[in-house]
Amino acid sequence: MSADHGIGDAGRIPGLPEPPVLGQAMLPPGTYQGKVVLITGGGTGLGKAMAVEFARLGASIVIASRDPAHHAAGLAAVNAVGGQAIAVGVDIRSTEQIAAAFDAAEQHFGTVDVLVNNAAGNFPVAAENLSPNGWRAVVDIVLNGDFFCSQEFARRCVAAGRPGAILNILVAYMHGGAPGHAHSAAAKAGVASLTETLAVEWAPDGIRVNALTPGLFPHEDHTQDMRSQRPEGYEAEWKRIPALRVGRVHELGWAATYLCSPYAAYLTGHNFVLDGAEHLRRGLRMPEFVPIRDQIPRRT
Ligand code: NAP
Repeated sequence: MSADHGIGDAGRIPGLPEPPVLGQAMLPPGTYQGKVVLITGGGTGLGKAMAVEFARLGASIVIASRDPAHHAAGLAAVNAVGGQAIAVGVDIRSTEQIAAAFDAAEQHFGTVDVLVNNAAGNFPVAAENLSPNGWRAVVDIVLNGDFFCSQEFARRCVAAGRPGAILNILVAYMHGGAPGHAHSAAAKAGVASLTETLAVEWAPDGIRVNALTPGLFPHEDHTQDMRSQRPEGYEAEWKRIPALRVGRVHELGWAATYLCSPYAAYLTGHNFVLDGAEHLRRGLRMPEFVPIRDQIPRRT
Protein backbone atom coordinates (compact mmCIF):
# COMPACT_ATOMS: atom_id res chain seq x y z
CA MET A 1 0.00 0.00 0.00
CA SER A 2 3.06 2.27 0.14
CA ALA A 3 2.78 5.04 -2.44
CA ASP A 4 5.45 7.12 -4.13
CA HIS A 5 4.84 10.50 -2.54
CA GLY A 6 7.49 12.26 -4.60
CA ILE A 7 9.65 12.82 -1.53
CA GLY A 8 13.25 11.60 -1.41
CA ASP A 9 15.43 10.00 -4.06
CA ALA A 10 13.97 8.03 -6.96
CA GLY A 11 14.27 4.30 -6.36
CA ARG A 12 14.24 4.60 -2.59
CA ILE A 13 11.47 3.17 -0.42
CA PRO A 14 8.96 6.02 0.18
CA GLY A 15 8.81 6.10 3.98
CA LEU A 16 8.28 3.35 6.51
CA PRO A 17 6.70 0.19 5.04
CA GLU A 18 3.07 -0.72 5.68
CA PRO A 19 2.54 -3.33 8.42
CA PRO A 20 1.26 -6.86 7.69
CA VAL A 21 -2.43 -6.75 6.76
CA LEU A 22 -5.37 -6.67 9.18
CA GLY A 23 -6.40 -10.16 10.21
CA GLN A 24 -3.05 -11.49 11.42
CA ALA A 25 -2.18 -11.93 15.09
CA MET A 26 1.21 -10.84 16.38
CA LEU A 27 1.31 -13.17 19.39
CA PRO A 28 0.71 -16.94 19.56
CA PRO A 29 -2.94 -17.99 19.17
CA GLY A 30 -4.68 -18.23 22.54
CA THR A 31 -2.31 -15.82 24.32
CA TYR A 32 -5.36 -14.30 26.05
CA GLN A 33 -7.45 -17.48 26.34
CA GLY A 34 -9.38 -17.36 29.64
CA LYS A 35 -8.43 -13.70 30.21
CA VAL A 36 -10.84 -10.80 30.61
CA VAL A 37 -9.97 -7.41 29.09
CA LEU A 38 -11.99 -4.31 29.98
CA ILE A 39 -11.56 -1.41 27.55
CA THR A 40 -13.07 1.98 28.32
CA GLY A 41 -14.38 3.53 25.11
CA GLY A 42 -14.00 0.11 23.45
CA GLY A 43 -16.88 0.67 21.02
CA THR A 44 -15.24 3.28 18.78
CA GLY A 45 -12.00 4.12 17.00
CA LEU A 46 -8.81 2.93 18.64
CA GLY A 47 -10.61 1.27 21.56
CA LYS A 48 -12.61 -0.88 19.15
CA ALA A 49 -9.47 -1.76 17.15
CA MET A 50 -7.67 -2.85 20.32
CA ALA A 51 -10.72 -4.87 21.43
CA VAL A 52 -10.59 -6.78 18.14
CA GLU A 53 -6.91 -7.68 18.51
CA PHE A 54 -7.34 -8.85 22.13
CA ALA A 55 -10.38 -10.91 21.05
CA ARG A 56 -8.47 -12.44 18.15
CA LEU A 57 -6.04 -13.85 20.75
CA GLY A 58 -8.84 -15.38 22.82
CA ALA A 59 -9.70 -12.66 25.36
CA SER A 60 -13.23 -12.06 26.63
CA ILE A 61 -13.90 -8.38 26.08
CA VAL A 62 -15.80 -5.87 28.21
CA ILE A 63 -16.68 -2.69 26.33
CA ALA A 64 -17.21 0.04 28.91
CA SER A 65 -18.71 3.35 27.78
CA ARG A 66 -21.94 5.39 27.71
CA ASP A 67 -23.53 5.20 24.27
CA PRO A 68 -25.58 2.09 23.30
CA ALA A 69 -24.79 2.69 19.62
CA HIS A 70 -21.08 2.47 20.43
CA HIS A 71 -21.73 -0.69 22.45
CA ALA A 72 -23.42 -2.31 19.46
CA ALA A 73 -20.53 -1.35 17.14
CA GLY A 74 -17.92 -2.75 19.54
CA LEU A 75 -19.82 -6.00 20.07
CA ALA A 76 -20.25 -6.45 16.31
CA ALA A 77 -16.52 -5.88 15.68
CA VAL A 78 -15.49 -8.45 18.31
CA ASN A 79 -18.09 -10.98 17.17
CA ALA A 80 -16.87 -10.60 13.57
CA VAL A 81 -13.50 -12.13 14.55
CA GLY A 82 -15.21 -14.92 16.52
CA GLY A 83 -14.62 -13.29 19.90
CA GLN A 84 -16.95 -12.92 22.85
CA ALA A 85 -17.84 -9.60 24.43
CA ILE A 86 -20.30 -7.80 26.65
CA ALA A 87 -20.96 -4.08 26.87
CA VAL A 88 -21.52 -2.24 30.12
CA GLY A 89 -22.97 1.25 30.36
CA VAL A 90 -20.64 3.46 32.39
CA ASP A 91 -19.68 7.10 32.66
CA ILE A 92 -16.14 6.91 34.04
CA ARG A 93 -16.64 10.26 35.79
CA SER A 94 -18.67 8.33 38.40
CA THR A 95 -16.87 6.06 40.86
CA GLU A 96 -20.16 4.25 41.59
CA GLN A 97 -20.67 3.50 37.91
CA ILE A 98 -17.07 2.27 37.59
CA ALA A 99 -17.58 -0.18 40.47
CA ALA A 100 -20.86 -1.36 38.94
CA ALA A 101 -19.12 -1.92 35.58
CA PHE A 102 -16.47 -4.13 37.21
CA ASP A 103 -19.25 -5.99 39.09
CA ALA A 104 -21.03 -6.66 35.80
CA ALA A 105 -17.79 -7.81 34.15
CA GLU A 106 -17.03 -10.20 37.02
CA GLN A 107 -20.55 -11.61 37.06
CA HIS A 108 -20.35 -12.41 33.36
CA PHE A 109 -16.72 -13.42 32.77
CA GLY A 110 -14.90 -13.43 36.16
CA THR A 111 -12.11 -11.18 37.45
CA VAL A 112 -10.80 -8.64 34.97
CA ASP A 113 -7.14 -9.34 34.02
CA VAL A 114 -6.40 -6.31 31.83
CA LEU A 115 -7.69 -2.74 31.98
CA VAL A 116 -7.20 -0.45 28.98
CA ASN A 117 -7.83 3.20 29.92
CA ASN A 118 -8.69 4.40 26.42
CA ALA A 119 -11.80 6.61 26.84
CA ALA A 120 -11.22 10.32 26.41
CA GLY A 121 -12.93 13.60 25.65
CA ASN A 122 -11.31 16.38 23.64
CA PHE A 123 -12.17 19.37 21.46
CA PRO A 124 -10.08 22.24 20.09
CA VAL A 125 -10.49 25.57 21.90
CA ALA A 126 -8.27 28.55 22.70
CA ALA A 127 -7.49 28.49 26.44
CA GLU A 128 -9.08 31.88 27.14
CA ASN A 129 -12.37 30.61 25.66
CA LEU A 130 -12.42 27.29 27.50
CA SER A 131 -15.43 27.15 29.85
CA PRO A 132 -15.21 25.73 33.39
CA ASN A 133 -17.53 22.97 32.21
CA GLY A 134 -15.34 22.09 29.23
CA TRP A 135 -12.18 22.04 31.33
CA ARG A 136 -13.77 19.92 34.07
CA ALA A 137 -15.38 17.47 31.66
CA VAL A 138 -12.09 16.60 29.93
CA VAL A 139 -10.07 16.43 33.16
CA ASP A 140 -12.83 14.36 34.79
CA ILE A 141 -12.94 11.82 31.97
CA VAL A 142 -9.23 11.55 31.25
CA LEU A 143 -7.37 12.11 34.50
CA ASN A 144 -9.94 11.32 37.17
CA GLY A 145 -11.63 8.56 35.14
CA ASP A 146 -8.35 6.77 34.40
CA PHE A 147 -7.29 6.99 38.05
CA PHE A 148 -10.56 5.71 39.50
CA CYS A 149 -10.78 2.87 36.94
CA SER A 150 -7.18 1.90 37.78
CA GLN A 151 -7.85 2.02 41.52
CA GLU A 152 -10.98 -0.12 41.22
CA PHE A 153 -9.10 -2.63 39.04
CA ALA A 154 -6.07 -2.85 41.36
CA ARG A 155 -8.17 -3.28 44.50
CA ARG A 156 -9.99 -6.19 42.88
CA CYS A 157 -6.77 -7.83 41.60
CA VAL A 158 -5.25 -7.65 45.08
CA ALA A 159 -8.43 -8.97 46.74
CA ALA A 160 -8.54 -11.89 44.27
CA GLY A 161 -4.78 -12.56 44.63
CA ARG A 162 -4.31 -12.24 40.85
CA PRO A 163 -1.80 -10.32 38.74
CA GLY A 164 -3.01 -7.71 36.28
CA ALA A 165 -2.00 -5.24 33.59
CA ILE A 166 -3.13 -1.66 32.99
CA LEU A 167 -2.56 0.20 29.72
CA ASN A 168 -3.09 3.97 29.62
CA ILE A 169 -3.58 5.55 26.20
CA LEU A 170 -1.74 8.87 26.03
CA VAL A 171 -1.04 11.58 23.43
CA ALA A 172 2.38 12.82 22.27
CA TYR A 173 1.44 16.48 22.86
CA MET A 174 1.38 15.97 26.62
CA HIS A 175 5.10 16.79 26.27
CA GLY A 176 5.86 20.20 24.83
CA GLY A 177 2.33 21.54 25.18
CA ALA A 178 -0.68 21.54 22.88
CA PRO A 179 -2.02 24.97 21.93
CA GLY A 180 -5.81 24.64 21.52
CA HIS A 181 -5.89 21.53 23.72
CA ALA A 182 -4.85 22.80 27.18
CA HIS A 183 -7.41 20.57 28.92
CA SER A 184 -6.49 17.35 27.13
CA ALA A 185 -2.71 17.89 27.30
CA ALA A 186 -2.79 18.65 31.03
CA ALA A 187 -5.02 15.66 31.78
CA LYS A 188 -2.92 13.24 29.70
CA ALA A 189 0.29 14.53 31.31
CA GLY A 190 -1.32 13.66 34.63
CA VAL A 191 -2.05 10.15 33.39
CA ALA A 192 1.60 9.81 32.24
CA SER A 193 2.69 10.66 35.77
CA LEU A 194 0.19 8.18 37.21
CA THR A 195 1.61 5.46 34.93
CA GLU A 196 4.98 5.79 36.63
CA THR A 197 3.69 6.21 40.19
CA LEU A 198 1.26 3.31 40.03
CA ALA A 199 3.80 1.05 38.31
CA VAL A 200 6.02 1.40 41.38
CA GLU A 201 3.22 1.17 43.93
CA TRP A 202 1.60 -1.90 42.44
CA ALA A 203 4.55 -3.93 41.09
CA PRO A 204 4.81 -5.81 44.42
CA ASP A 205 1.17 -6.85 43.90
CA GLY A 206 1.90 -8.25 40.43
CA ILE A 207 0.18 -5.40 38.61
CA ARG A 208 1.96 -3.78 35.67
CA VAL A 209 1.10 -0.25 34.52
CA ASN A 210 2.24 0.91 31.08
CA ALA A 211 1.24 3.54 28.55
CA LEU A 212 0.83 3.55 24.79
CA THR A 213 1.12 6.82 22.87
CA PRO A 214 -0.42 6.64 19.40
CA GLY A 215 0.58 9.05 16.65
CA LEU A 216 -2.01 9.78 14.00
CA PHE A 217 -4.35 6.81 13.53
CA PRO A 218 -7.31 7.63 11.29
CA HIS A 219 -10.58 5.78 11.90
CA GLU A 220 -14.24 6.17 10.99
CA ASP A 221 -15.36 7.41 14.43
CA HIS A 222 -13.48 10.73 14.73
CA THR A 223 -15.80 13.42 16.09
CA GLN A 224 -16.72 16.38 13.91
CA ASP A 225 -14.79 18.64 16.30
CA MET A 226 -11.59 16.69 15.71
CA ARG A 227 -12.16 16.36 11.93
CA SER A 228 -12.55 20.13 11.64
CA GLN A 229 -8.84 20.48 12.43
CA ARG A 230 -7.85 18.41 9.39
CA PRO A 231 -9.79 19.89 6.45
CA GLU A 232 -7.95 17.73 3.88
CA GLY A 233 -8.85 14.56 5.80
CA TYR A 234 -6.77 12.34 8.04
CA GLU A 235 -5.04 10.29 5.31
CA ALA A 236 -3.63 13.49 3.78
CA GLU A 237 -1.65 14.05 6.98
CA TRP A 238 1.09 11.65 5.77
CA LYS A 239 3.00 14.74 4.59
CA ARG A 240 3.58 15.85 8.18
CA ILE A 241 4.94 12.52 9.40
CA PRO A 242 8.56 11.38 8.85
CA ALA A 243 7.29 7.85 8.16
CA LEU A 244 5.38 9.29 5.16
CA ARG A 245 2.25 7.49 6.27
CA VAL A 246 -0.35 7.54 9.03
CA GLY A 247 -0.76 4.66 11.48
CA ARG A 248 -3.02 1.66 10.88
CA VAL A 249 -5.32 0.93 13.79
CA HIS A 250 -4.55 -2.79 13.83
CA GLU A 251 -0.84 -2.08 14.39
CA LEU A 252 -1.86 -0.11 17.48
CA GLY A 253 -3.92 -3.14 18.53
CA TRP A 254 -0.86 -5.37 18.18
CA ALA A 255 1.19 -3.05 20.39
CA ALA A 256 -1.55 -3.09 23.06
CA THR A 257 -1.76 -6.89 23.05
CA TYR A 258 2.02 -7.16 23.47
CA LEU A 259 2.26 -4.61 26.30
CA CYS A 260 -0.43 -6.37 28.38
CA SER A 261 0.74 -9.92 27.61
CA PRO A 262 2.91 -12.35 29.60
CA TYR A 263 5.68 -11.64 27.01
CA ALA A 264 6.01 -8.20 28.57
CA ALA A 265 6.03 -9.56 32.13
CA TYR A 266 9.06 -7.46 33.17
CA LEU A 267 7.88 -4.27 31.47
CA THR A 268 6.21 -1.70 33.69
CA GLY A 269 6.15 2.09 34.07
CA HIS A 270 6.95 2.41 30.36
CA ASN A 271 5.47 4.68 27.69
CA PHE A 272 5.55 3.00 24.27
CA VAL A 273 5.36 5.60 21.49
CA LEU A 274 4.00 4.35 18.15
CA ASP A 275 3.97 7.30 15.76
CA GLY A 276 6.37 7.00 12.81
CA ALA A 277 8.62 9.62 14.51
CA GLU A 278 5.85 12.23 14.36
CA HIS A 279 6.59 13.73 17.79
CA LEU A 280 10.25 14.44 17.00
CA ARG A 281 11.58 17.76 15.69
CA ARG A 282 12.10 18.06 11.94
CA GLY A 283 15.00 20.48 11.99
CA LEU A 284 16.81 23.24 13.81
CA ARG A 285 14.29 25.98 13.05
CA MET A 286 10.62 25.88 14.05
CA PRO A 287 7.83 26.86 11.61
CA GLU A 288 6.78 30.53 11.68
CA PHE A 289 4.67 31.29 14.74
CA VAL A 290 0.89 31.67 14.31
CA PRO A 291 -1.12 32.33 17.53
CA ILE A 292 -3.60 29.55 18.23
CA ARG A 293 -6.51 32.02 18.26
CA ASP A 294 -5.81 32.64 14.56
CA GLN A 295 -5.80 28.91 13.83
CA ILE A 296 -9.08 27.77 15.35
CA PRO A 297 -12.49 29.46 15.35
CA ARG A 298 -13.87 30.87 18.59
CA ARG A 299 -16.37 28.54 20.32
CA THR A 300 -19.69 30.12 21.28
P1 NAP B 1 -12.97 8.34 20.08
O1 NAP B 1 -13.36 7.46 18.93
O2 NAP B 1 -13.56 9.69 20.17
O3 NAP B 1 -13.29 7.50 21.39
C1 NAP B 1 -13.49 8.05 22.64
C2 NAP B 1 -14.23 6.98 23.45
O4 NAP B 1 -14.31 7.41 24.80
C3 NAP B 1 -15.63 6.72 22.94
O5 NAP B 1 -15.78 5.33 22.69
C4 NAP B 1 -16.52 7.15 24.11
O6 NAP B 1 -17.61 6.22 24.25
C5 NAP B 1 -15.59 7.04 25.29
N1 NAP B 1 -15.95 7.99 26.35
C6 NAP B 1 -15.92 9.35 26.28
N2 NAP B 1 -16.34 9.87 27.44
C7 NAP B 1 -16.62 8.82 28.28
C8 NAP B 1 -17.10 8.73 29.61
N3 NAP B 1 -17.38 9.82 30.34
N4 NAP B 1 -17.27 7.50 30.15
C9 NAP B 1 -17.01 6.38 29.42
N5 NAP B 1 -16.54 6.41 28.14
C10 NAP B 1 -16.36 7.63 27.58
O7 NAP B 1 -11.39 8.53 20.18
P2 NAP B 1 -10.14 7.74 19.55
O8 NAP B 1 -9.59 8.54 18.46
O9 NAP B 1 -10.51 6.31 19.31
O10 NAP B 1 -9.12 7.85 20.76
C11 NAP B 1 -8.97 6.81 21.70
C12 NAP B 1 -7.83 7.16 22.63
O11 NAP B 1 -6.63 7.32 21.88
C13 NAP B 1 -8.02 8.46 23.41
O12 NAP B 1 -7.50 8.29 24.70
C14 NAP B 1 -7.20 9.46 22.60
O13 NAP B 1 -6.75 10.53 23.39
C15 NAP B 1 -6.05 8.58 22.14
N6 NAP B 1 -5.37 9.04 20.91
C16 NAP B 1 -5.97 8.95 19.71
C17 NAP B 1 -5.27 9.31 18.56
C18 NAP B 1 -5.84 9.13 17.16
O14 NAP B 1 -5.13 9.34 16.17
N7 NAP B 1 -7.09 8.72 16.98
C19 NAP B 1 -3.98 9.84 18.66
C20 NAP B 1 -3.40 9.97 19.93
C21 NAP B 1 -4.11 9.53 21.05
P3 NAP B 1 -19.12 6.67 24.64
O15 NAP B 1 -19.44 7.89 23.80
O16 NAP B 1 -19.93 5.46 24.27
O17 NAP B 1 -19.10 6.95 26.11
